[in-house]
Amino acid sequence: MIRVLKTNEEYFEWKNSLNKETIGFAPTMGNIHAAHLSLLDKALEENDHGVISIYVNPTQFGEGEDFDAYPRTLNDDIEKISTLQKKHPHKDLIIYAPRESDIYPENFDQYLKADTIGIDLEGDLRPTHFDGVVTVVARLFEIVSPNKSYFGKKDYQQLKLVELMAKERFPSIEVIGMPIVREDNGLAMSSRNNYLSQEDKESALILRNALLKIEKLVRENKEITLIKSEMEKIKQDTRFNYLALKSATDFKEVTNFNSPIVILGNLQVNATRLLDNIEVL
Ligand code: AMP
Repeated sequence: MIRVLKTNEEYFEWKNSLNKETIGFAPTMGNIHAAHLSLLDKALEENDHGVISIYVNPTQFGEGEDFDAYPRTLNDDIEKISTLQKKHPHKDLIIYAPRESDIYPENFDQYLKADTIGIDLEGDLRPTHFDGVVTVVARLFEIVSPNKSYFGKKDYQQLKLVELMAKERFPSIEVIGMPIVREDNGLAMSSRNNYLSQEDKESALILRNALLKIEKLVRENKEITLIKSEMEKIKQDTRFNYLALKSATDFKEVTNFNSPIVILGNLQVNATRLLDNIEVL
């Protein structure tokens, strides 16, 4: 059965009605697309019930960012999410769409600081972003109290930071990284793709192509210095906000290819920053 719960009271009432059933949780900011549905689908597959949250979190937006413009499309979202009910007819499918006061009550003082692996790349472009992300995810974990939680690998640095936060504060909640879902042309799905014109979408592929090029060199076992100089050449296109290699396990700097790595990039397309990555495991 599908339910839309808009307050913590409604959520707790549902949660208290459960016996020992497990909950799989997919946090989102709404404007639901196929990638969000893939997280919830997995949550429903692996647990007795699935919860998807829809909350545009103010604390992860910096000054001058798109908090006000961020698409809020709850009715359409509910319709899209409902399509999963047919596939999981015997499970509860909960859409938790709280008010700001449910997440940040007046006396709220649990603001967290993200780990130092959040300082560069996205953290460099958006200095307070990850503090807001780990704060809201911790608050959502506290309210929703899931057994497993599902995050997309599109936001790879975020996934690593959430894993660290959960390990420290919510050791019983498993954090699961899910594959990137792409448009037919290879562009990673994102609510911010709504801001792009057709022409923008085509230039967005520069990012995907750069990542594929570096992936090829890594798979061919080319010298790391050669790969880094190739990356420097690509970055001469000033639309690249960054292009980097990191360890896929601890997100530290890469000095060799003896363990899994991730190639990450961020491309400026007019006012929109697009991010994408490829794991080489
Ligand atoms: P958002 O609503 O954009 O904050 O995203 C909510 C969740 O969906 C996060 O865990 C994202 O990483 C994930 N997500 C968004 N886009 C994609 C995508 N194209 N592929 C995989 N996961 C995604």
